[in-house]
Amino acid sequence: LRDGKIEAVLPTREAPARFPGHEALDLADHVLIPGLVNAHTHAAMSLMRGLADDLPLMTWLEKHIWPAEVQHVSPDFVRDGAALACAEMLRGGITCFNDMYFFPEAALEAALAAGLRSVHGMIVFEYPSAYGSDAQDYLRKGLQLRDRYREDARTSFCLAPHAPYTVADASFKRVSTLAAELDVPIHIHLHETQEEIERSLAEHGVRPLERLRRLGLVGPGLIAVHAVHLLPEEIELLARERCSVVHCPSSNLKLASGFAPVARLLEAGVNVALGTDGAASNNRLDLFQEMRSAALLAKAVARDARALPAHAALRAATLGGARALGLDARIGSIVPGKAADLTAVRLSGPELAPCYEPVSHLVYAAGREHVTHVWVDGEPRVSGGELVKAPPRGLDTQIGMWQNSLQKLAASERADP
Ligand SMILES: [Zn+2]
Repeated sequence: LRDGKIEAVLPTREAPARFPGHEALDLADHVLIPGLVNAHTHAAMSLMRGLADDLPLMTWLEKHIWPAEVQHVSPDFVRDGAALACAEMLRGGITCFNDMYFFPEAALEAALAAGLRSVHGMIVFEYPSAYGSDAQDYLRKGLQLRDRYREDARTSFCLAPHAPYTVADASFKRVSTLAAELDVPIHIHLHETQEEIERSLAEHGVRPLERLRRLGLVGPGLIAVHAVHLLPEEIELLARERCSVVHCPSSNLKLASGFAPVARLLEAGVNVALGTDGAASNNRLDLFQEMRSAALLAKAVARDARALPAHAALRAATLGGARALGLDARIGSIVPGKAADLTAVRLSGPELAPCYEPVSHLVYAAGREHVTHVWVDGEPRVSGGELVKAPPRGLDTQIGMWQNSLQKLAASERADP
C-alpha cells in the first residue's frame, strides 16, 4: 500500500525485494478481501434495533417506526445512531455504506469521524418531518449538503426518492432531471411488497417500475432496492437499462416481503449488490450474514443448487455494491491503483477447519466475528478485532438515553392502541 492505495499484488516471497522499505504485516491463516460494501442501509435506525419485531411492513412502518421517528428524529438522533452503526459495520468488515435517512449531514459527519467511506441520499419524500417540509425542501437541503462535501474523497451522493408510494410524479420528474444534470445515481426502495405494486396499479394504472420508466428514472444510475416482485419483462428492462438491484435478504425475510429472483437477475446480466437495510428490520448490519442468506435463498428460490455460488455472493457484497454506487473505478476489488479499502478475515479455529476454498468459507462458514483487520484508504480502522479509534465519547450514555425514550413511547402505544 502507498498513499492510501493498493500499489501491487504479488507473491509474498517477492515483496521484500521489490518493496524493501515497506512495513510488513504478516497475517497467517487470513484471507484478504475488498472492504465490504453495504449498498443499502438507514444507519441511524440502529437506535431502533429490536424495537418492533415480527410485524408486516406497513404495520411496522405506520404504527411503530414512523411514530417513533416523528417523536425522536433530530440531528443528534441521527449522529448517535449512525455512529453506532459505523462501529458495528467496521467491526464486521464493511468499509463503505449507502445511506438513506433524514438529516444526512449528521450521518455523514458520523461516517467521517469513524473513517468509513459513505454515500448519502439526497432524500425525497412528500411528507413533512423534523428535517423538511416537503419534497422541494428535502431536495434543496440535500443539494446544499452535496455542494458542501463534493470535494470530500470519502463521501459521495445519490438522489434518494424514498419509494413509489411516498413520492409524487412531479418530484420524480425533478429527480430524473437532477440525476442527469449532476450525474449521480438514484437510490430507491422498489417492488418491495405485493401491496406496493397493487397500490400503484390502483393509483397510477401501472406497476411502480413502469411508472418510473415513464418518468425517466430507469437507466444505468438506478439502484432498485429489494426488487422482490418482478415480472420477466421487468427483469429484462432492468438488464437492458443497466440498472442495479440491491438485494436485502434478511430484511425481505423478516418483513415477509417475498423472495427476490436473484439468480434470474444475474442470468439476465443485472448488477446485483447486497444491503443490510436498517437495523430495525434486520436486526444486524452484517454483510457476512447477507452473503450467506443470499446464497442459500437464491438456491431455494431457483430450485437450483448452482444459483448464486459463493464467488458471486462475495462479488455482490464488494464489486457489485461499488458498481451500483458508481464507485467501481475506486473500490470493490483488490487491484493496484484502487483505494486500499481492505478486510482481513482469519480462517482458523475449529469452526473453520479445514479450509479447502477460502471463498466458500467466507460465505458459508465464517462470520463477522472472524474479521481481524480493516483498512479504509490504507488507514487501519480495526486491528485485532477491535476498533482502532473508539466511538465518540459518551456514545454509550446517549444510546441509553434514546433507548429509555423510545421504550417509553412504545409502552404508551401499547397502553393506548
Ligand atoms: Zn430500506
